[in-house]
Amino acid sequence: MKSSIAFSMTAEVLRQVQSTIGSLPAECGGMLGGCRQSGLVSHYYFDGTAGRTTATYSPDVASVNRVLAADWNPRGVDLMGFVHSHPSGSMVLSGGDREYARAILDANPGLGRLLLPIVQSRCDANDFEMKAYVASTQPGDVNVQPVTIDVVDDKEDAGASMFGSLPMFARVGTAYDLRRMERSRIIAVGCGGSASFLEDLARAGLGEFVLIDPDVVGETNLATQQTYRHDFGRTKVAAIGTRIRQINPLACVVEYADALESLSDMDVSFVATTCLRDRLPAMTLLCGMTDNFFAQARVNRLALNFGLPSLCAQVYAEGHGAEITFTHPDVTPACHRCILASRYTAYLEQGFQNTVGSQGTPFVATAALNALKQLIALAILHHGTDHPRFGPLLRRIGSRNLVQMRLDPDAGLPAFAGLDASGDSFFCNDVLWIPRPAQKQPACPDCGGRGDLRVQVGRLSDTRPMRSCRTVTAGRG
Ligand SMILES: [Zn+2]
Ligand SMILES: [Zn+2]
Repeated sequence: MKSSIAFSMTAEVLRQVQSTIGSLPAECGGMLGGCRQSGLVSHYYFDGTAGRTTATYSPDVASVNRVLAADWNPRGVDLMGFVHSHPSGSMVLSGGDREYARAILDANPGLGRLLLPIVQSRCDANDFEMKAYVASTQPGDVNVQPVTIDVVDDKEDAGASMFGSLPMFARVGTAYDLRRMERSRIIAVGCGGSASFLEDLARAGLGEFVLIDPDVVGETNLATQQTYRHDFGRTKVAAIGTRIRQINPLACVVEYADALESLSDMDVSFVATTCLRDRLPAMTLLCGMTDNFFAQARVNRLALNFGLPSLCAQVYAEGHGAEITFTHPDVTPACHRCILASRYTAYLEQGFQNTVGSQGTPFVATAALNALKQLIALAILHHGTDHPRFGPLLRRIGSRNLVQMRLDPDAGLPAFAGLDASGDSFFCNDVLWIPRPAQKQPACPDCGGRGDLRVQVGRLSDTRPMRSCRTVTAGRG
């Protein structure tokens, strides 16, 4: 018996599969949804809380059922099947997989068929690969046959902008591509000094926020961060979450009052891709905004492994200057580690420790940095849109991936040496857009220094350990 049904999958679902289970070690999985009649897979839920071993994937039945009952069923999204990853070299359904398919089909007689793609992750195999099977019931057994899935382009433009009809955005309908903004997500690692950056992205129509920060608002934060007395004792993520919703009640905010180190790669992949509203995010920007070197370094590895654009920012000691580094796999050649190689050497080889924090930093430095961060975030978030101002901006910035600010004419930043404050037009609050190439010789331990960040997607089987810096210093001898 040949299966007559044809299956297709939107490019967006495929991209999400690649950037979750395709970039994590084997035996991860997710649920596929769409239209049973046409065979189109248009929805994906990454099962980031599944039970897994090196040999088995067991769906988190409770969370999968919750997504079906609370989200997919009410909107007419049919359950289509499950996708999961196998170790390198085994692209066929196991006996356990067949058993499981049969159990699902028996429990849901209306289903008829179940789509069961097997994926090989780039962590385990040389390349991402997907091979699909369709299972159907057969008396006493389950019938399984291979099936091809066509990938179809999905129009991001489909559907109207929800925010565009809100009175609050009446004056900025042309300032941003609100459709892109409302469907985009920021993952903010560090929500202290970046508080106003996050709030102001809500003013710019950003629709989805994932906030990660273990800190609680205290008295000294009043002078250094955008905080208020009524927030004392609350976590910073809860305080900012409240203010984002005060600005735009339709914004989705997920709050983690935890340090980044307590989140696994599965957790981060889950919050980067899971549906917070009726569709997958159009763009997920990962931001490292802590004064912790090791957290910033993990942000770099996470961005590389999951193919996410990223932005990292730091105020220098006492706010004499500040920097932003950013990556976009389509545009920039170097990772944050390439750009900041000497800092990695200082921390990892020379025992440097940053004890400065916000001590002695005037608020103007934080405010100026947040404004510039917003401009760069808008360039990244609008990338690929036809918005006349921000759509082409990232390509125009090009490889100028280290953005440095001088906030004091006597800051003594080497890059500004030629722009002496005694000259005509430069004084302070200057910005330099500095191109930093990939670090090829010796190769950057994180991105490989090949000048193409896309090749590193799915290559780190665990982003938590810091990769040795030894090769970096050896070349500097
Ligand atoms: Zn399996
Ligand atoms: Zn690198």
